[in-house]
Amino acid sequence: MASGDLIVSFGEMLIDFVPTVSGVSLAEAPGFLKAPGGAPANVAIAVSRLGGKAAFVGKLGDDEFGQMLAGILKENNVNGDGILFDKGARTALAFVTLKADGDREFMFYRNPSADMLLTPEELNLDLLRSAKVFHYGSISLIVEPCRSAHMKAMEVAKAAGALMSYDPNLRLPLWPSAEEAREKIKSIWDKADIIKVSDVELEFLTGSNKIDDESAMSLWHPNLKLLLVTLGEKGCNYYTKGFKGSVDAFHVKAIDTTGAGDSFIGAMLCKIVADLSILEDEAKLKQAIKFANACGAITTTKKGAIPALPNEAEVLSLINGA
Ligand code: ADP
Repeated sequence: MASGDLIVSFGEMLIDFVPTVSGVSLAEAPGFLKAPGGAPANVAIAVSRLGGKAAFVGKLGDDEFGQMLAGILKENNVNGDGILFDKGARTALAFVTLKADGDREFMFYRNPSADMLLTPEELNLDLLRSAKVFHYGSISLIVEPCRSAHMKAMEVAKAAGALMSYDPNLRLPLWPSAEEAREKIKSIWDKADIIKVSDVELEFLTGSNKIDDESAMSLWHPNLKLLLVTLGEKGCNYYTKGFKGSVDAFHVKAIDTTGAGDSFIGAMLCKIVADLSILEDEAKLKQAIKFANACGAITTTKKGAIPALPNEAEVLSLINGA
């Protein structure tokens, strides 16, 4: 990819601790495995693994885990010029389990964690100004000072001409209330050129229990160029000013869906940055979504998010049925 095609992903990177055995509560778990995560970091690695140029902007603890995460970004060729380390606070941890009854149980160590302490003054403005795409979520909107850092980073990148990409990535347990989550997630809605939501997020944000064109279009705003609604094993619906439609998913044996959405949007951003006309050409857009669906599908076939993110050869072999 050309050197001007930088995708900058802003937000949190953390460690998920997942039980060594499945179907137990956090209290029952005999032990936990470390799984690096955080949607914006996953997206940066997804881009890089596909051969794109990615940078991650966020704050880690100046501790073993923070250094480990920065090392993972580096190993994956993600530009780390926007990474900061906090001397006082730890890298965020999330203990997460899927109980036998199918309920997900979370316990977060963010009291506060380093990512929440990123300040606007600390941002690497040159890096932000060099972004062709600026991608972000909503977890960085929850508390100050990170919220102000998020707002400033968006402003700087947008003023420099970056295409703005938003995946709200709803994590309800992190918000003080569902109302606040909905309100703050939507507070930056009209800044985005590209928005990706999952079916669950569509229901949450619209308050409708229908996943249809009408509910999706209720999220439309006049400056938006592309709205994507991902539907898990049912693929993806797309909406632009000029056309709308859907692209089927690939059939795979899903083992762990963590990171499928990050893999999907990372792939979309790679395709868009390489050819902006995708946003106006339906045939090209469908091809790009097909590629992104393949990325999402492959990511579900292995445990964890980062280890499961595909390279281009793996994607092409799924698409070509090899
Ligand atoms: P999120 O991780 O944000 O909830 P989804 O689960 O909708 O996002 O997944 C994103 C994309 O990954 C989907 O649009 C689809 O293309 C692909 N995908 C996800 N789950 C599966 C699955 N079980 N089988 C095939 N493809 C999947």
